[in-house]
Amino acid sequence: MATMHGVVLPGDRRLDMREFPVPDPGHGQVLLRMKASSLCGSDLRAIYRPHDQGTGPEAYRGVIAGHEPCGIIEQTGPGVRRFKVGDRVIVYHIAGCGLCRECRSGWMINCTATSARAAYGWQRAGGHAEFLLADEYTLVALPDELTYLDGSMVACGVGTAYAACCRAGVSGRDRVLITGLGPVGLGAALLCQAMGAKVVGVEYVPERRELAQKLGIMDVVGPSNGVDMKTVLDEKTQGLGFEVAIDCSGNADARYLCLDAAREWGRVVFVGEGGTVSFAPSPLLLHKQLTLYGSWVCSVPQMEELVEHLVRWGLHPDVMVTDRFTLDQAKEAYELFDTGKTGKVAIVWE
Ligand SMILES: [Zn+2]
Ligand SMILES: [Zn+2]
Repeated sequence: MATMHGVVLPGDRRLDMREFPVPDPGHGQVLLRMKASSLCGSDLRAIYRPHDQGTGPEAYRGVIAGHEPCGIIEQTGPGVRRFKVGDRVIVYHIAGCGLCRECRSGWMINCTATSARAAYGWQRAGGHAEFLLADEYTLVALPDELTYLDGSMVACGVGTAYAACCRAGVSGRDRVLITGLGPVGLGAALLCQAMGAKVVGVEYVPERRELAQKLGIMDVVGPSNGVDMKTVLDEKTQGLGFEVAIDCSGNADARYLCLDAAREWGRVVFVGEGGTVSFAPSPLLLHKQLTLYGSWVCSVPQMEELVEHLVRWGLHPDVMVTDRFTLDQAKEAYELFDTGKTGKVAIVWE
């Protein structure tokens, strides 16, 4: 029986490389030869760092990690109808029951049949291995113009960023505040600029500010001696505020800042995970007539729409990848990503 190596994350910042059988695609399934499998902040937060690895949709079941897979179809099982051997594909990283209302609209992330819902890299084997077994209905065709690493970015982070921009209906009429320029924030900033909006990014980690500027996000601010952030931002909008504010940090102060710096009738999106926030709804939300959205990942149709737009805009999200590793260097990849100072970190095969 053919075997392959796969990365398992047992918690407490440990990483095991184990041997697994190469899976055989069943009905409606494909075997993917992995080409790119990037690391995600949620892997660090919920799987790599903690001792106790979560419950519900974030429960890690000791499977091969990696939920941002992109590769090429090596083998198809019976009943595969749309894709064929040799197709380049992105894997939407959650498989659902396929039949509930959420699944039928492409929001497998929200599948209500909890026993059937399984995310790649969390409850079923993910992309940190030479091969991945995927259900055909979770595949999104990767256009020829995009790289495998582009696809890997789309599979989770940039897809998530795109959905947040869609929720706020970002356009060229907007000034957009983005708090937190980690991979999702950076992706959101690149997308908002491509949509024609003017972006101001707030980031407290100097390395991340530097990367954002290098990638063309010109207006990036960090803590400035003694002047509070709201004052700095007010100067940028002549005191009018931002039509759109997107928090990608999950930080309480940043979430508050988004509400505070939003203009009357503005749209605010919380997309950064974890943490809390407390604020007085009357002055910050009600009296400003704000709309506050929560946004979690994206749908399969949004992912298909996103890759089409990336080609049209000539935008390659792989520019956010600062560090590439081979599969057998996975331990170093996680240790580096854990510093919180890098852009995206990815395992690549070519
Ligand atoms: Zn992710
Ligand atoms: Zn479902």
